[in-house]
Amino acid sequence: MSKSNPRVGFVSLGCPKALVDSERILTQLRIEGYEIVATYDAADVVVVNTCGFIDSAVDESLDAIGEALAENGRVIVTGCLGKRPDEIRQAHPEVLSISGPQDYATVMQAVHAVVPPKHDPFIDLVPDYGLKLTPKHYAYLKISEGCNHRCSFCIIPSMRGDLVSRPVDEVLREAEKLVRGGVRELLVVSQDTSAYGVDVKYAERQWRERSYATRMKSLCEGLSELGAWTRLHYVYPYPHVDEVIPLMAEGKVLPYLDVPFQHASPRILKLMKRPGAVDKTLERIKRWRDICPEMAIRSTFIVGFPGETEAEFEELLDFLDEAQLDRVGAFAYSPVHGAHANDLPDAVPEEIKAERLERFMARQAEISEQRLAAKVGTVQSVLIDLLDGELAIGRSRFDAPEIDGLVQIQDGEAAGLKPGDIVDVRIMGSDEHDLFGLVGVDEDEFGDD
Ligand code: SF4
Repeated sequence: MSKSNPRVGFVSLGCPKALVDSERILTQLRIEGYEIVATYDAADVVVVNTCGFIDSAVDESLDAIGEALAENGRVIVTGCLGKRPDEIRQAHPEVLSISGPQDYATVMQAVHAVVPPKHDPFIDLVPDYGLKLTPKHYAYLKISEGCNHRCSFCIIPSMRGDLVSRPVDEVLREAEKLVRGGVRELLVVSQDTSAYGVDVKYAERQWRERSYATRMKSLCEGLSELGAWTRLHYVYPYPHVDEVIPLMAEGKVLPYLDVPFQHASPRILKLMKRPGAVDKTLERIKRWRDICPEMAIRSTFIVGFPGETEAEFEELLDFLDEAQLDRVGAFAYSPVHGAHANDLPDAVPEEIKAERLERFMARQAEISEQRLAAKVGTVQSVLIDLLDGELAIGRSRFDAPEIDGLVQIQDGEAAGLKPGDIVDVRIMGSDEHDLFGLVGVDEDEFGDD
C-alpha cells in the first residue's frame, strides 16, 4: 500500500463482543483504503474502542484515551464507555468524537472528518469475511446485541439496549465465510445465547436451501454443517437449553457450555435479579451430564455481593462441590457506576470479599485439578494455537481461548504441528489448569490403560 494512504491507529479494549465491533470498524476502514498502523507516531488519527463494564475497565479505557491523546493528539472514542460521554469529556475534553457500541457510522464519519479516505480501485486487501483480531484459526461469532434481563449489577442493557437477534441465515453465511477463510473454531457470543431469537419470534430463514429457525438449537444444527468446532458461550440454564445437549453427544457442537451462574444462594440470586430457576440448576446439570457425560461446564461467579452472609457464601461452596464444574472464573463484587446493586444495603467489607474469593478459588482449584487428572490416559482432539520452542500449545474441546486451560504437547515441533491443526493427543499428565501430552506415543510404550 502506498505511503500516502491515510493511516489509522486502533486500540481495542473490552470483551469479545467489543472485539467484534472493532473487527467491523477495522474492516470498513480497510475497505475504504485506510492503512491500519501499530504505532501512535505513524497514525493520522487513533480510534479507541472502550469498555465500561466495571469501574476498573472504565479506568483502563480513560487511561488508554489519555495515552493516545498524549502520543498522537487526534483521538476518536467509541464503545461501551461512549454511552457516558460526560465522563469522557470531563477527563479528556479534547477527544474528537464519542459514540456508543455498534455505532460504526459515527466512527467512520469522525475518521473521514480528520483524514478523508483515498479511493484506490486497485486495492482489494479485505477478505470476504472481513478483518479479524483473533488468530486465523478461530473467530468470535456475534449472534445478537443487547439483553432483555436486568441483572442488578450490570449496566449492559442500559448501554446496549434490549436484545436484537441477527437473522439466523445472516449468522450462518458469516460463519460459512469464516470457515472458508481458514477458521476451525467458531465461538458463539452474545449477552444471553439461550435467548437468541426470542425478539424475532424465532423467525424461520433459508440457508443452503433449508429452513432454519432463529433459535439456538437450529443455529447449532446449521453451524454443525460447516465442519468447524462450535463453542457456545453465555448460555443460561433454561429448559430449552436441554435440546442442544444431544447435539453435543452426537459431536455436532463441542461438549462445552459456558454458563454464568454468578451465585448459588436463591436469596442472593434474587437480589442479583438473575434469570433462570436456580433451584433446578443442579438437577439440570445432572441431566445434561446423563445425556453427554464428557461435557465441560464453565462458569463465572461473584463473591461478596451486597448482603452476602457467611452462610450464603458457604451455600456457594457447597454448590461447587455438588456441581463439579470444570472451569470457573470468579470476581469479588465491585460496584459498577450506574448499576442498581449499588443501592443495596450491607456491603461486604473488602477484606471479607478478598478472603471469600481466596477460599472460593482454592475450593474450585481442587475440583478442576481432579477433573483434569481424570483425563490422563485418554486421547483428546486438540486444536493447535501456537508453537513455543519444542512445544505445541493447543486447546482440547473442553477449553475456550483466553479463559480456560491449555494442552502442552511436548513433541509438537518434532511432529511438525502448526497453528490451526487439529490432532489427537495422548494425555500424559495434568495440573490444576493444563494438560500435558504427546502426539507420537506408541500404545505399547504407554502401558496398560
Ligand atoms: S444477563 Fe444480566 S449480566 Fe448478562 S448482560 Fe443481561 S443484564 Fe447483564
